[in-house]
Amino acid sequence: MLIARLIADPSDLETRLDAASAALADAGLPLADAHLLDASSDVLQLELPGDDMAVLRKVIDAHFTPSDAIIARDEIRVPQLFVSDMDSTMIGQECIDELADFANLKPQIAAITERAMQGELDFESALRERVMLLRNLSEGAIFECLDTRIKPMAGAKTLVETLKSKGCRTVLVTGGFHHFADPIAAQLGFERVVGNRLEVTNGALTGGLVGGITDSGVKKTVLLEEADELGEGIVTLATGDGANDIPMLQEATYGVAYHAKPKARDAANGWIDRGDLTVLLKLFGIPETEWVS
Ligand SMILES: [Mg+2]
Repeated sequence: MLIARLIADPSDLETRLDAASAALADAGLPLADAHLLDASSDVLQLELPGDDMAVLRKVIDAHFTPSDAIIARDEIRVPQLFVSDMDSTMIGQECIDELADFANLKPQIAAITERAMQGELDFESALRERVMLLRNLSEGAIFECLDTRIKPMAGAKTLVETLKSKGCRTVLVTGGFHHFADPIAAQLGFERVVGNRLEVTNGALTGGLVGGITDSGVKKTVLLEEADELGEGIVTLATGDGANDIPMLQEATYGVAYHAKPKARDAANGWIDRGDLTVLLKLFGIPETEWVS
């Protein structure tokens, strides 16, 4: 069985649903049911007896783009564990790129970031290379950067606080730095942070990192370990936008790519291409009257 929940442009929605329904029938995956979650909701739920998720995705993309959606193999439930990437997912920026601006190294560093996010460059070498470029930058520059440039993604706090109010554990995992992630997590309400730690001596960056690297493998491991602690059969949600989020997105019950790079979107079973982060609350059927902000 497949269940998809999706939000798309409401204009001509019925026409597009008819076309999608015909395309699904042609592909041997006839729709059993299609309905709005409730009368006031803009979430369309599609139910199909088959199990070919790839075909369903293709049809949704062909007929509803841009859309926000989750596809699952059984009833979609509110997650009990939420693990999220930070840069370009919970905040609108890539921290290291913003930091680079203070050091007048933005073009050099942004080029490395982009290649890493596209999966063209090994994450750890890219990270270490960029951090070395930041050597001698003052710690004060980090705090100034945080204050003046780093902004939460729209809906981030509402998403985190509302999920928490439903009993969901929330964890921020980032290939970025604790200098940014700790205050961001506190601001948004995350209960735990896993990230990389910049080494500081005499108030300036040494160009090195303290401890192990948080990369794609660690992000996935954090999800698995947290889920394990909560018990068997835990429903998990992961969100991210880049290549280093892919293993985590694939491991989660719902891996949702947020305005993501194509590789991350392809690896996920959900995506947000239109709306902000509160779209997830809609897709989980949590009414706005229950949102916490
Ligand atoms: Mg990211």
